[in-house]
Amino acid sequence: MLNLIGKTLKELEQILLPYVKEPYRVRQIYHWIYQRNAKSFFEMTELSKDLRRRLDENFSINYPYKEREIPSKDGCIKFLFKLSDGKKIESVLIPEVNRNTFCISTQVGCKMGCIYCLTGKMGFKRNLEVEEIVSQVLILLEKVKPRDRRVNIVFMGMGEPMDNLENLKKAITLITDPNGIAISPRRVTVSTIGIPGTLKSLREIAKPPKIAISINSLDEEKREFLMPATKKFKLSDVLKEMESLKLRKGERITIEWVLIKNINDGEDEIERIKKLSRKVPIKVNVIPYNFSPLLPFERTEEKDAENFALKIEREGISVTVRRRRGEDISASCGQLAIIDEK
Ligand code: SF4
Repeated sequence: MLNLIGKTLKELEQILLPYVKEPYRVRQIYHWIYQRNAKSFFEMTELSKDLRRRLDENFSINYPYKEREIPSKDGCIKFLFKLSDGKKIESVLIPEVNRNTFCISTQVGCKMGCIYCLTGKMGFKRNLEVEEIVSQVLILLEKVKPRDRRVNIVFMGMGEPMDNLENLKKAITLITDPNGIAISPRRVTVSTIGIPGTLKSLREIAKPPKIAISINSLDEEKREFLMPATKKFKLSDVLKEMESLKLRKGERITIEWVLIKNINDGEDEIERIKKLSRKVPIKVNVIPYNFSPLLPFERTEEKDAENFALKIEREGISVTVRRRRGEDISASCGQLAIIDEK
């Protein structure tokens, strides 16, 4: 049965044409799905009983099965979802003062193989469908009471979002539609290793999200070591594309820097960051590497990340250090993985 989650208003109008003649009825159904998290057509009390029955006989509103919710000591919650084909993904709700951040997955596994990331170790299974991306947001919104759209959506969960570009773009359209999930595009960030050609394409949608690029090293060879997929996507091409992006007034591109001791924490990197900042408006987000027994690096201490950030700041560059969250439940950056996934 066709799942209506993940469909745009236009698509719903087409799909429901044989059942619903009045456009305002379709808008009501759209509203029930994206604003009121309806799980069944029978909840849609504005519709006649007969219409609800016919919709129920022909369509579904299908969410992935929430297999587990794992709470962290610091308030984060990791969600484990089982998809219709049995594959599993994770999402994370990160509560903060005055807002919540949702870390959303776009693929089952990932092909990019970054050596500091457990998802990369899983290998690639498949892209998520639009409804599977959007459902994560809808389910996590249910945990935010009263339903509060002042949430930040970060596509930093499992997978390389730009490797699933068309589904990502459609999901963002639904997430940012004021009649849909209604989250401001300024609160949506896509984190990518920067596949050339995709940045421009993403910025062309009606309400483009913010972009964060995992740079991690501005030395080509070192970057290729850390992120083997970048052997195909050269750093110079990524930088060229960054330079050519039309940014909103005052907007800066976030450079993500997973800081790993003795790998990418040297003065030479600070110098390169400084040079880049003279060409492109950037802000740097330093992410202390999170330890995993399955990966070959030492845990980066907060004080080392702070020191690195301080050196960047002294160059007049805006910089933040990402606070570790959900480390005790393996929900921090680079720790999401379904290792036993077949
Ligand atoms: S860091 Fe992102 S792109 Fe790299 S392997 Fe992990 S999920 Fe994939």
